[in-house]
Amino acid sequence: MDDPVSLVCPRDRGELRRGSAALSCAGGHRYPLADGIPVLLLANEVPTHAACWVSLEEAQAGPGSDPLTTGAQGIDPVVQAVVAATCGGLYRHLVGRLETYPIPELPLPPGNGELFLEIGCNWGRWCVAAARSGYRVVGIDASLEAIAAARRVAHQLGVEATYFVADARHLPFPDGSFDIVFSYSVFQHFAKTDALTSFDEIGRVLRPGGLAKLQMANVYGARSIWNQLREHRIREPRRLFDIRYWSPGELRDELSRRVGPTALEVDGFFTLNPQSADLELLPRRYRLVVRTSEALRRVSGRLPPLRYAADSVYAVSRRARAGG
Ligand SMILES: [Zn+2]
Repeated sequence: MDDPVSLVCPRDRGELRRGSAALSCAGGHRYPLADGIPVLLLANEVPTHAACWVSLEEAQAGPGSDPLTTGAQGIDPVVQAVVAATCGGLYRHLVGRLETYPIPELPLPPGNGELFLEIGCNWGRWCVAAARSGYRVVGIDASLEAIAAARRVAHQLGVEATYFVADARHLPFPDGSFDIVFSYSVFQHFAKTDALTSFDEIGRVLRPGGLAKLQMANVYGARSIWNQLREHRIREPRRLFDIRYWSPGELRDELSRRVGPTALEVDGFFTLNPQSADLELLPRRYRLVVRTSEALRRVSGRLPPLRYAADSVYAVSRRARAGG
């Protein structure tokens, strides 16, 4: 299968030529292929996630075992190990015990072949949802292990999706490539300067009229406030991948400037991640949290001020058309 999008050098956006072990641009930049997966990271950048360093080392270490058949039976071992990290603390009891892949419901209308980019896809749960919903899917993540797992899961589920190891701040795609850019539980972990650089990149790779839908943590959310008092107090988060809370006004201003007119939608209350599609997988006490969150989300459609108390929000930005 041909890639649904062309790749460019993430440093200078020059054309990339694919050799047997690496991709290279006319400017002399080289990006290794690990089991055929392009690893388009910049070695001299301070990473957004510790996985970036690991990915570069692994890619340079050379090919591993058969990329698509490892873990072909049952649930992929990488997904078994990371489910609480990718889906949230409410899924902790499922680590090592998954019997099915928790595939969420995509919060977008069904697609008709539109090109969909997920940033920070990990093992690809949203990519699977988007592919099943009719989009042509490209997923990127800084972790080679996650991207290798995403390829295996897509293969196992019979879903078509294309995956690359790449950095959200240096997207390896030409301008105006995508109809949709989606991201969940990624930019809420970025340092704000890194998130802003990434928002500029999202604006760049979206086609005019295209849509970005990014999940973020709201500083005024009820549980956000509690967590901030308890864990962060007044200090700035220092660790990589700490949660950074944004105010609705800040999100709207920054994304409007960098992508296009932006509105906020509620994702959930009290926690940052659980999906109602996964209710059956959750213990009873958590189901109540998810159901209450869903009910409040519906009410917020009629009572917009309630959005300000949501813990998890989507910022939805429409890329300006010609001249924007
Ligand atoms: Zn280059």
